[in-house]
Amino acid sequence: MTDNIAEALQRTQQAIQQIQRQYSLPHRVRLIAVSKTKPAEAIVRAYQAGQRAYGENYVQELVNKATELQALTELEWHFIGPIQSNKTRDIARYAHWVHSVDRLKVAERLSAQRPADLPPLQVLLQINISAEDSKAGVSPHDMPALAQAVAKLPGLELKGLMAIPEPGSGKVTFARMAELSALLQQQHPQATELSMGMSDDWPDALACGATMIRLGTAIFGARDYHNR
Ligand SMILES: *Cc1c(COP(=O)(O)O)cnc(C)c1O
Repeated sequence: MTDNIAEALQRTQQAIQQIQRQYSLPHRVRLIAVSKTKPAEAIVRAYQAGQRAYGENYVQELVNKATELQALTELEWHFIGPIQSNKTRDIARYAHWVHSVDRLKVAERLSAQRPADLPPLQVLLQINISAEDSKAGVSPHDMPALAQAVAKLPGLELKGLMAIPEPGSGKVTFARMAELSALLQQQHPQATELSMGMSDDWPDALACGATMIRLGTAIFGARDYHNR
C-alpha cells in the first residue's frame, strides 16, 4: 500500500507537469487527494510522500481524521461534499478550504462560526454547471449575486469556483466553467481558483484551466462504497 500511494502520487504529478508543458499552462496546479472513506493511515502514507492537500465529503469523517492527524501540521483539509446548514460548525473549525458553498445561508453560518483565532476560511462557490436538478450548486445565472454577498462576509475569503460536471460531459463544460471563472474575476480579481476534474476526466479539466483537481481513485484506489 505504501508504495502504491507514493507511486500513484508521483505518476500523477508527472502527468500534470506533462499536460502543463503540452498546453503551456501558465497557472500552478494543486492536487487535492480525495481521502473520503479511506483510513487515516492512507493519509499518513501520502503525507510522507509529500502530499499536503486532502479532500473530504463527510463532516464526521473530517472531524475524526483532523483530530487524529493533528500532528501533521502542514496538512490542509478541503471540504468538498454537500453541506447541510446544521453541520457548518465543524466544517468552519476544521477545514482550510470549502469547495461546496452554494447558498448564502451556508456561507453566513460558516463565516459566523469560523473561530476568531483562525484565518478566514477559503471558499469556492459550487456551480451547477450541468443544470441537474439533483445536484448541489448555484446556477451560473445566480453566481455573481452570491459571489457579491459571500465576498462581504468577514470570516470567509472568496477564492473561486468549483464544479462537478455530469460524467462524460467533456471539454465543452470545463470551458464554460473557465468562462464563468473569468467573469467572476472581473468583479473579484483575487478569486482565481477553479476546482474541477476528477480521476476520470482531470486531464481535460486541466487543459481547460483547472487550478485544483480532486483525485480519489487515482491516488488511493477504488472505494468500498460505490456512491462515495
Ligand atoms: C469523490 C469525489 C471526488 C474524487 O472522485 P474520484 O473519481 O475517485 O477521483 C472528487 N470530487 C468530489 C466532489 C467527490 O465527491
